[in-house]
Amino acid sequence: MKLYNIANPSETATFREAVLRGSASGGGLYQPTQLAAIDDVEELLRMPFVERSARLISSIIGDEFASDDILTMVRKAFDFPVSVKAATNGTFSLELFHGPTLAFKDFGARFMAQILGHITGDRRPGEPKRITILTATSGDTGAAVAHAFLDVPGVEAIVLYPAGRISPLQEKLFCTLGRNIRTFRVDGDFDACQSLVKGSFKDEQLVKNLGLTSANSINISRLLAQICYYFEGVALIRALPGLRTAIPVISVPCGNFGNLTAGLMARRLGLPVKRFVVATNANDTIPRFLAGEPYQPRASMATLANAMDVGAPNNWSRIVALYDGDEKHIRGDLTCGSLDDDGIRQALRKLWKHGFMAEPHTAIAWSILKRSREPDEIGLFLATAHPAKFRETVEEILEVRIDLPPALSAAASRPLLSEDLPNSPEELRRRLLQIA
Ligand SMILES: *Cc1c(COP(=O)(O)O)cnc(C)c1O
Repeated sequence: MKLYNIANPSETATFREAVLRGSASGGGLYQPTQLAAIDDVEELLRMPFVERSARLISSIIGDEFASDDILTMVRKAFDFPVSVKAATNGTFSLELFHGPTLAFKDFGARFMAQILGHITGDRRPGEPKRITILTATSGDTGAAVAHAFLDVPGVEAIVLYPAGRISPLQEKLFCTLGRNIRTFRVDGDFDACQSLVKGSFKDEQLVKNLGLTSANSINISRLLAQICYYFEGVALIRALPGLRTAIPVISVPCGNFGNLTAGLMARRLGLPVKRFVVATNANDTIPRFLAGEPYQPRASMATLANAMDVGAPNNWSRIVALYDGDEKHIRGDLTCGSLDDDGIRQALRKLWKHGFMAEPHTAIAWSILKRSREPDEIGLFLATAHPAKFRETVEEILEVRIDLPPALSAAASRPLLSEDLPNSPEELRRRLLQIA
């Protein structure tokens, strides 16, 4: 697959190079130069999840990796189920949270770990001897990345997260692992963490000495993995009685907009989708833009859906590039809405009245979908995290008790291993060079 740097289109890379580097020069993002539509999508939709996903990924990077290797990597990465569950009238959730860290980010992180493991096992001249994953998280990425890379040989993972802005359980899930995983608790918000990471990637000495790469949703390998579950979502809907030819509306709870980017790429490949719904929390930079305002990022604010507390979504430039910069087309194509914390509470309670337990991110996707759904439409909303992952919030709002799944209860009793980091690029640089 050939990719180009959105910030400097004459700079191109192979998929292998783009995965190793994470972001392109000047902090630009790698974007596929082309995504060719797949011939027989109907046949593809009838295949089992793992085989179909391998076929999809091979259609994109088959020029760089053997199909057998891709199938093996996909099988190892996607070793947990995806399911669809009926919610309220005409809406269905796509449960993406059955992986080891109970959130959809397991898909991207685990596939990326497979790809990097494959690349380091077959290192080429000029490629770094060691790889250091440096990533910022508003909660779920950190857990998914830490678990996916734990004990991957030749790879060290460093995760930055905002102090006091993630749930205590979330913190336990990824800051207690040790071994090749380090976690920095940053005195700042998510945007501060993200900008510390971005700054490090602009520092050539750091990049070279540590073999720095990113596992944020800016890494293209994560997006490829995420394309796959959109196809599974449509396939599962079509397996339901009376929905054999359904073309659903898909609602995506958005923070950094990686998930939506993958959905739009899936549609480019031929996935039948009626339209996409963009759902955000009170950090509504994109809904404001889609409503006709100029693009104007704001500082992020803390909400109940903290994995979406992003003021300046880092994948937005990819979406603009997918539409060739045509703002009018973007505004006409995407339905959107945002929900503040009160709205989240109400949505959770309404769903619970229907016997459906959700967590804040999923509740946003459902609520904005419901607001915009036409009576004859089949709506699919992405359930991006397990309710137990946001247990404190959900228990308080719904006045219920949630049992912890085994993965969380085991982590809850382990000591935190995080180091405190001031919001200072110089200090981060000093610590990273110590590791190198
Ligand atoms: C990361 C995350 C999101 C937002 O996904 P983006 O790709 O950043 O838009 C939504 N829900 C949950 C639970 C998440 O962890």
